Amino acid sequence: MMKFACKDIGMDCDFVATGASKEEVMQKAMAHGGVTHADAMKNMTQEQMAQFGKQLEASIRTA
Ligand SMILES: [Zn+2]
Repeated sequence: MMKFACKDIGMDCDFVATGASKEEVMQKAMAHGGVTHADAMKNMTQEQMAQFGKQLEASIRTA
């Protein structure tokens, strides 16, 4: 099982996403971010979003 926690990328948030694959966790994390962190994400440039995506992917660990 794979796991991602918002805290792992420095967010003050208790959200944790789990899934069978990295892709599944990425999908859940992005869906969460689009709702809960919409304010932070809407101000990001395309470049920042790409960087954020990489950081998010790198933070997904085996649980
Ligand atoms: Zn969060």
